[in-house]
Amino acid sequence: MTDSAAPVSRAACVVRDADDPLRALRDRFILPDGLIYLDGNSLGPMPRAAGAAFARTIEEEWARDLIKSWNSAGWFDLPSKLGDRLGVLIGAAPGQTLVCDTTSINLYKAIHAAIGLRPGRDVIVAEAGSFPTDLYVVEGAMASAGRPMQRRLIGHDGPIEALLDDRVAAVVLSHVDYRSGRLLDVADITRKVHAAGALVIWDLCHSAGVIEFAFDAENIDFAVGCTYKYLNGGPGSPAFIGVAHRLQAQARNPLSGWWGHAAPFAFDRDFRPDSGIRRFLCGTQPILSMRGVESSLDALDGVDVSALRRKSLALTELFMARVAALLPDLEIVTPREASLRGSQVAIAFDKGYPVVQAMIERGVIGDFRAPDIMRFGFAPAYLRFADVWDAAEILDDCIGAEVWRDPRYSQRHAVT
Ligand SMILES: *Cc1c(COP(=O)(O)O)cnc(C)c1O
Repeated sequence: MTDSAAPVSRAACVVRDADDPLRALRDRFILPDGLIYLDGNSLGPMPRAAGAAFARTIEEEWARDLIKSWNSAGWFDLPSKLGDRLGVLIGAAPGQTLVCDTTSINLYKAIHAAIGLRPGRDVIVAEAGSFPTDLYVVEGAMASAGRPMQRRLIGHDGPIEALLDDRVAAVVLSHVDYRSGRLLDVADITRKVHAAGALVIWDLCHSAGVIEFAFDAENIDFAVGCTYKYLNGGPGSPAFIGVAHRLQAQARNPLSGWWGHAAPFAFDRDFRPDSGIRRFLCGTQPILSMRGVESSLDALDGVDVSALRRKSLALTELFMARVAALLPDLEIVTPREASLRGSQVAIAFDKGYPVVQAMIERGVIGDFRAPDIMRFGFAPAYLRFADVWDAAEILDDCIGAEVWRDPRYSQRHAVT
């Protein structure tokens, strides 16, 4: 049996869990008893050590040591220190990654910088089906570019190959599609973008911490992503931005705040950017939330992303196989082929919203993405094969019971 082959019975799942080389990782997270958490792609669980780390930051660094902590507790260095640690997970050598701000803000900085690095070009290529904030930010960055810009959308204006030419300044792509879970071929696409003379910006929101990414080896220009999904940094934890060494000296951060200054505490009148990655900082960072990211990186310390990826593929394969066996009429949107699949399984079903609500009531948390996608994320750091088996059974039960007939499950909440 290969590492990624799916077990064929619940008993086989239990055996597989006992043999799982990653099984000890589960204990590094707090997971409520009896809950099967398939939403770690939206908000990862709390690392067990985070509580004590937050308490230390609050009681010692903040309450006792006050402003001294900017130096004595290393607060000021956290964005680059945590950035370097996160860089390991995305294949970026030190000095190219920061933990700061939000994905939306970091994307804005990256697109704006890319436009500045390609002065003769006036087109940004993005994906029509991308997570909306990415498209909204493309609009905002184009509007403030200082010259007229145009947008071309993959999946609306044509395939990427048809949209690349010498007018394209940058291409913004999601490594994994937030809805379908489809994984893009980073090496192939990056090569095509570079052949057209454009820069590439990869959004790793749905892959960082669970799928390998080769920032340096693939010659990536920019990467952004959040830390509260598979990275488990906590609600609203700061995001990350990666900027290749070779671009840093010329790349301009449009949000030129004092934390990006070469000497923030010289209090100079004029802006002079830091010579390295810190030029992509803007202002004071949320230190408490930074500690959440630190705890999440501690929880993955020493873990090989390729091992996480192998287990993730086996988990999603098992779930898809069980769903196909139990509910052959359901449409699994996520590609069955491993090389095209992220770490989630999306199922299109017009009664998807009430089914997900009923599953939550039965202890399986997934989520729903309009118009009709039931989305289940499989985080290999803490999920067990037996959980996956049980989740498919509960999905089958809910559909068999036609839970959508109960109006209780159709009531929409603000966050789906
Ligand atoms: C989750 C996600 C975001 C989130 O952006 P925030 O600025 O953190 O709210 C952005 N892009 C993609 C593709 C995402 O999946």
